[in-house]
Amino acid sequence: MTLLLNGFELAKQCREQLAEKIKTLPRAPKLAVVLVGNDPASAVYVKNKEKAAAEVGIQSVVYRFDTISQKELLSLISDLNNDTEVDGILVQLPLPDDLNEKEILQAIDPAKDVDGFHPLNLGKLMIGEPAPVACTPKGCLKLIRLAKQNLTGLNALVIGRSVIVGKPIAQLLLKENCTVTIAHSKTENLPELCRHADILVAAIGKPKTVNADWIKKGAIVIDVGINRTEDGKLCGDVDFENCFDQCSAITPVPKGVGPMTIAMLLENTVEAFLKKTNIRP
Ligand code: NAD
Repeated sequence: MTLLLNGFELAKQCREQLAEKIKTLPRAPKLAVVLVGNDPASAVYVKNKEKAAAEVGIQSVVYRFDTISQKELLSLISDLNNDTEVDGILVQLPLPDDLNEKEILQAIDPAKDVDGFHPLNLGKLMIGEPAPVACTPKGCLKLIRLAKQNLTGLNALVIGRSVIVGKPIAQLLLKENCTVTIAHSKTENLPELCRHADILVAAIGKPKTVNADWIKKGAIVIDVGINRTEDGKLCGDVDFENCFDQCSAITPVPKGVGPMTIAMLLENTVEAFLKKTNIRP
């Protein structure tokens, strides 16, 4: 029997637990979100984040700009860093091409970096020190744990080496004592590598790339990809229907990794608040 790793349900449980925790706090944690430009997908993501934050009792403030200069944006980040009421800062990516994304992300106070994209936090993840962990990788690990608690010794294959998804997931799995392989667009014999994976994480961005023939019987499969088919339907990087019976557990798309990403953003905001205030609920 294959276990459906229902991220929608798990995210709901995470939000409920956070809402209970927040009720015990002296004030609502506050999240500042910066949205620049007119990318419709980014606008939807930000709306969803705002809604989810409000539901659990996190105060969110969205700074929306059609355009803004690098200098003005850096100045806003500096103000948010210095604002003692602000616990978390998120700059919605991608930023328009005229802005230097790296410089903006590095300007965020690492303690308020609820997306976990600051180089200091990525470095801490690498050396195994506690730090805010990127939301999607953190959510993936929680989904894997629904299927199996102890991951020691398992072969994990992460397809994709982006700084915000592939690399941090690989680090998290390494920390869980998995033997981790990272594959990417230049990898040769990808199907063969996949066939050795007890845990397979696909973060490619290409629809239905992974098929059943690539999957080791009983593998745990996490599909991070969000793609649209020609008829406009959402689908992942894994051919879900084709692979389902071959896996011991698999995430769907939608309602898999996506909802967990937002839940982990909320968790990171509460954790940033607790760390700053030294409160242990
Ligand atoms: P990216 O484009 O930065 O990275 C894609 C990676 O896939 C690269 O490292 C590339 O080398 C690798 N790749 C490309 N083609 C390949 C191939 N044929 N074989 C093997 N590797 C290949 O993308 P990203 O930001 O890491 O996102 C990956 C996917 O995850 C996208 O579909 C994105 O929309 C999705 N995503 C989902 C969430 C979520 O919350 N569910 C969050 C972030 C990203």
